[in-house]
Amino acid sequence: MLKSHSCGELRKEDTGQKVTLAGWVHRRRDHGGMVFIDLRDSSGIVQVVFNPQVSQEACQVAGSLRNEYVVQVVGEIVLRPEGTENPRLATGEIEVVAKKGIILNTSETPPFYINEDVEVEESLCLKDRFLYLRRPRMRDNIILRHRMVKFIRDFLDGRGFLEIETPILIKSTPEGARDYLVPSRLNPGKFYALPQSPQQLKQLLMVAGLEKYFQIAKCFRDEDLRADRQPEFTQLDLEVSFVEEEDILQLMEQLFTSLVETVKPEMQLLKPFPRFSYKEAMGRYGTDKPDVRFGMELKDISDIAAQTDFAVFRSAVDNGGEVRGICVPGCAHYSRHELDGLINLAKGCGPQGLITMSFMGESVATDTVKSTAARHLTQAQLENIAARFESRTGDLVLIVADVLEVVNKTLDELRREMARRLNLADDNILAFAFVVDFPLFEWGEATNHWESMHHPFTAPRQEDIPLLDTEPAKVQARHYDVVCNGCELGSGSIRIHHRHLQEKVFQLLGYSKEDVEQRFGHFIRALEYGAPPHGGIAVGLDRLAMLLAREQTIREVIAFPKNQNAVDLMFDTPSYVDKKQLDELNLKLKQEILR
Ligand code: ASP
Repeated sequence: MLKSHSCGELRKEDTGQKVTLAGWVHRRRDHGGMVFIDLRDSSGIVQVVFNPQVSQEACQVAGSLRNEYVVQVVGEIVLRPEGTENPRLATGEIEVVAKKGIILNTSETPPFYINEDVEVEESLCLKDRFLYLRRPRMRDNIILRHRMVKFIRDFLDGRGFLEIETPILIKSTPEGARDYLVPSRLNPGKFYALPQSPQQLKQLLMVAGLEKYFQIAKCFRDEDLRADRQPEFTQLDLEVSFVEEEDILQLMEQLFTSLVETVKPEMQLLKPFPRFSYKEAMGRYGTDKPDVRFGMELKDISDIAAQTDFAVFRSAVDNGGEVRGICVPGCAHYSRHELDGLINLAKGCGPQGLITMSFMGESVATDTVKSTAARHLTQAQLENIAARFESRTGDLVLIVADVLEVVNKTLDELRREMARRLNLADDNILAFAFVVDFPLFEWGEATNHWESMHHPFTAPRQEDIPLLDTEPAKVQARHYDVVCNGCELGSGSIRIHHRHLQEKVFQLLGYSKEDVEQRFGHFIRALEYGAPPHGGIAVGLDRLAMLLAREQTIREVIAFPKNQNAVDLMFDTPSYVDKKQLDELNLKLKQEILR
């Protein structure tokens, strides 16, 4: 190799060693004839000193070095002079005295700093991704991701799981998103769909008798993108035969706990992972992916609101809505302007407005509670509201009166926003939680039939099966989610393994017999050949890596991500293709979108 050691591994104990290093010039400083460079390779950074008294020749080379030049350095490790150690660097106690320097390659000036972690316009760091990935933080994220995957593989291997690859060119498998389609040249007019997940395949592996499957699986969903979504993303996907809910939840709790303790021991875990029923999560947090690092839980005051003369409260309750709110500690001092900001934020979630109550004084009274609602409420009503929120002097209560869905959405948003402002969401804490007891279906207003809360393969609770015929809304699913810090990390379920039940669910989901035959014929058939009871889960690996890396978006833990428009700016793709390629695929573009 062109190097004998890696930059980042050198320590005090190596003093006196002769080394050959190779890497990039991270930073260069000239000090009266002496040149110092921070030399960086994938393992870290070490300081190299070029001293004219050691080698004139090496110093000349050093003089022409610029940031990001690639160099080879031959030298010796020495202790840094006392007082010049750098405790922020793992190699900070030593430096390399250069005897020889060879420029292996030059570099243009990069379009953004590599040696400083200052924010870069997103398009730049996506376009020149190979440069952005040189930043030490990004390198650390990529290394972390590697360690996570390695740990997961070993952990599951140790428990008898087999890693099995499944095809990428496949048929649509419903996970509730749009498919990416791939035209088939050999079968004109026909298309493959890229898997939204390997759901059917992993279930078929259970039918095949393989019992414990996992895969670090690529999934593709053509959805609108957000900070935690990419058109292609990675799941830790697994499936096990002869299990019940508890087995999967325990497996996940053990996996996450030992993963964090191994790859991120400095992070704090809340153990054991709390469990919420879907109903409880929605009631206490307004969402099925609660962030349990902080309180500010939702309180229902619909009963009190129904007795008042306050039109906003009354009309919500009279129209079948709800009145709920959160109590934000210590924010009663918010100015009109700040409150207007919150009202606007709330309105973005759909409600007509937001009722704010600032508890200014020791006592609860119409003149100490600053609120547009106060003068419409009796003293007793005010006291009841204060008691329900357990509000204290200095607190700010935020109340939404609307249909339940809007109330929940708004309060979830406000709760997370206020936690951010109050610094209550410590990203050094990983608050995992399980959410269970989901309904099997939700009514699709647009489609006019039942839709799966999870996916069509999820089993209903045994005792609820008769309700499929009478009250599908009441059927509970054997579905569970794992969430962490307010982020949906994974979903799974115990599956249907009997043909007739699967057919019944398809039917409730609005599939005709022909649809089922055409889309799921293979699957239904498999269930007829001794399909074992089975269940599994899939965890978003990008999201998990994002949380462990304490990043704000999954793009920071993906080597080559796409932008918000699903464009890869580095390759500049998706891109147009030649007419010849389209002809081979028997495809023709619509006139109006032609270049
Ligand atoms: N395939 C499901 C998903 O991607 C996970 C599962 O049910 O195992 O959400």
